Parts: sequence; structure tokens; C-alpha cells
Amino acid sequence: MILDNFKLNGKVAMVTGCNTGLGQGMALGLAEAGATIVAVNRDNAEDTEKKLKEIGNPYFMLKADLSSIDVIPNLVQEALASASKIDILVNNAGIIRRDDSLVFSEKDWDDVMNVNSKVLFFLSQAVANHYIARKVRGKIINICSMLSFQGGIRVPSYTASKSAAAGLTRLMANEWAQYNINVNAIAPGYMDTDNTAPIMADPERAKAILSRIPAGSWGLASDLQGPIVFLASDASNYLHGAIIPVDGGWLAR
Ligand code: NAP
Repeated sequence: MILDNFKLNGKVAMVTGCNTGLGQGMALGLAEAGATIVAVNRDNAEDTEKKLKEIGNPYFMLKADLSSIDVIPNLVQEALASASKIDILVNNAGIIRRDDSLVFSEKDWDDVMNVNSKVLFFLSQAVANHYIARKVRGKIINICSMLSFQGGIRVPSYTASKSAAAGLTRLMANEWAQYNINVNAIAPGYMDTDNTAPIMADPERAKAILSRIPAGSWGLASDLQGPIVFLASDASNYLHGAIIPVDGGWLAR
């Protein structure tokens, strides 16, 4: 039955940056669909842990600072020691820095590129090698952005990193589809989270953004739950290299 293909029972999903925001919403959606969650955060993630406990599947809370690729071998080892395997990787952890391009600093460039694209690539590489060694189907889902398609304003490293994430989604899909690894992405639109709090707090920008969203509202973390479960499940086994906008129609405008 087709709805059975969406079930994630028996699957292990590693979700990075899920103490709050979109990552938390996706981790809870995957757990509700049956997955065991390996939650990766810099710090304790009590709120997510409490919500995962309520859902009732097994889960594991791991700590890693994803600003450097140095942590990746240990992180994958810890995930395998806890959950025995990984079937789904959600590269969600991300940061943004805002400043005029004319004065944008190298630090704000490097910090953002490291988390949003360098770690995304090398963690995907490590997990893809795990999938290939196990000879099983695996899923990798990258969290892109509207700025994977558009230029944005005052966020040069964010735009570069999310455009890189989109390109890498396609590249990894091209190389790894032959191993039954599905690499796809979700590109959220303007979502109500900590990441967008500064622009939501700016009445002029908030009004301009809202007036351009055909759906007439900012997105919520729960809006990503259907798409993430689809991309994590057998229902999307022939989907490779897709970047799905979940944006209330922003890109269609
Ligand atoms: P958020 O609330 O700021 O969440 C970002 C997550 O990434 C947090 O869990 C954060 O952990 C984690 N993170 C950042 N740096 C990390 C590091 N060095 N190591 C480990 N974890 C780290 O923002 P969000 O809106 O939910 O964003 C989630 C993803 O969606 C990001 O990739 C973002 O770029 C993308 N996105 C968001 C929007 C939007 O409108 N909100 C739109 C498009 C794309 P801490 O709490 O410890 O910092």
C-alpha cells in the first residue's frame, strides 16, 4: 500500500541542529513517522528531548560543534555506537551573518561557509560511505534556502553557502544515485524561527516579505514535516537531486 512507503519504522535519522526551529520540527516529524532520531546539537537540547520522549520512539542525543569538519569521524562513530546504523541524514544546522557586502568580514564568510556548506559536504561524504559499506539504500536531505536561487541582501556568505548546498545536492545525487543513495534538498521560504527573528522584528522588511508571499503567512517548522518524511522515505526512492521549495509560493511569484 502506498501509505506504507512513507513509514520510517526501523530507520535511523541523524538530524543536525535540532534543538529548536526547523530542525526540531523535522526531527519530530521523522520520529512521528517511526524513525529513531539521532539528534546532533552543540549543547543540551532539552525541549527536543522532551518532545521526542513524548513521541515514544528510541532517540539518542549527541553533542558536536559543526563549525569544523574535525568532529565528523567521532560523531559518526558515536552515532553508530548508539543507534547501530544511519539510514537518513538531515543536514539542517546552519547560521547566517548580516552585514553590507562592502565591509563584510572574512570571519563572517568563513564561519558561515564552514557550517552551511563545508560540514554539510564532509558529513554527507562520511555517511554516504557508511551507506555504501552496508550496501543499503540511504537518504541525505540538505536544507537549502530561497538564497539557493536568489541573491538576497546583506548576507553574502549565507547566499554563497546555500547556493553551494544546492549545487552539492545535485553533484552528490549525480555521483551517488548508482549506490541507491538519494540526495535531495528542501528550500524553506521565509519561516518563523530564531534565524529570521531580526528581519521579522524590522517592520518594513517584515511587511515587504509578507506581502510577497502568495500564501499570506510566514512558514512554520511544522510545514516541513510532510516534505521531510517524503524525502526520508521509500516514497521518494526515484527522486535524486531535487531541491523542493517549501515557501508559500515565494519562488513562483
Ligand atoms: P535556527 O533556529 O537558528 O536553528 C539553526 C540550528 O543550527 C540550531 O539548532 C543551531 O544550534 C544549529 N547550529 C548552528 N551552528 C551550529 C554548529 N556550529 N554546530 C551545531 N549546530 C549548529 O534557524 P532555523 O531557521 O531553524 O534554520 C534551520 C536551517 O534552515 C538552517 O540551515 C537555515 O539556514 C535554514 N533556513 C531557514 C530559513 C528560515 O526562514 N528560518 C529559511 C531557509 C533556510 P544552536 O541553537 O546551538 O545555535
